[in-house]
Amino acid sequence: MKRIKILLFSIVYIALSLLCGCAAKPYHAQTRLIMGTVVEITAQDKKAIEAAFTEIERIDALMSNYKPNSEISRLNANGQAKVSHNTLYVIKMAKYFHKLSGGAFDITVGPLVKLWNIKENMQKEAKQIKIPSQERINSALSYVSSNFIEIDEKNSIIRLRKKGVSLDLGAIAKGYAVDRAVAILKHYGVKSALVNAGGQIYCLGKKGFVYWVVGLQNPRKPNGVLDTFKLSNRAISTSGDYEQYFIYNNKRYTHIIDPRTGYPVDNSICSVSVFADNGLTADALSTAIFVLGEEKGRKLAAKFKNVEVKVIKR
Ligand code: AMP
Ligand code: MG
Repeated sequence: MKRIKILLFSIVYIALSLLCGCAAKPYHAQTRLIMGTVVEITAQDKKAIEAAFTEIERIDALMSNYKPNSEISRLNANGQAKVSHNTLYVIKMAKYFHKLSGGAFDITVGPLVKLWNIKENMQKEAKQIKIPSQERINSALSYVSSNFIEIDEKNSIIRLRKKGVSLDLGAIAKGYAVDRAVAILKHYGVKSALVNAGGQIYCLGKKGFVYWVVGLQNPRKPNGVLDTFKLSNRAISTSGDYEQYFIYNNKRYTHIIDPRTGYPVDNSICSVSVFADNGLTADALSTAIFVLGEEKGRKLAAKFKNVEVKVIKR
């Protein structure tokens, strides 16, 4: 009897020390400014966090439009470029989302993004803002179509079929970068982490024994949380009209542009959050659904396995 008691005591003791050992390993939350946003990685392994940041920086160096030597900038400048397998993959996926969304998602929006210049206009007072003329919008529109993108997969070359076409991976690259960061964390043996690249989030495993909790911002109250979600091995991406926009004549002009009209999206949606198994899918779909509107957007989402959508209306 005494022996059994000692044995039981030892088993309970070992189990408890294993549990405590696990819980005792602290999480580190580190942030860096990459891709024009705050990227935060939370995990228990500092080396793995460092490597994941390095990977996000590498993706940014390939795909940024703000870095003159990035593959995308070289492609936009020369109309042709040999690119890494990462850039090739993201462009290929972007073309896939273009097709599935009936043109609502389109990385050739570059000329329209430049024309509307939301980033600079949002710093200005209303009287300094100039709304582009229909003529200039039409002219920019003539360079917008993912059909202008030619992918030579064998030689890893991208060609733009018309001079003046320019790519902008702003709606998909962050989601992909998050996926890459998660892949690196896994490579280091990390089983529990949270990666957040300015609202593009991936929750790897659980935080100890509980789910990661992600809050959804109230689009009209910067510090208000509308909803919270318990997630594990899930990506979430939110596209909204509340972070990059300007108001002119009581009208809101947001940074997501409808490639079919050339105008910033103006439907009844404030924000779209997409839950998916990977960041790239969540990122591309949240932008596409924002452009399509709720009804058509949900139809698009239904084509994907394991995708959920939350829409917040004005
Ligand atoms: P997101 O915040 O992921 O919805 O991406 C928005 C960014 O993607 C914008 O700042 C533009 O750089 C780019 N973009 C704007 N409109 C579109 C569109 N219809 N399709 C693809 N990219 C877009
Ligand atoms: Mg997006």
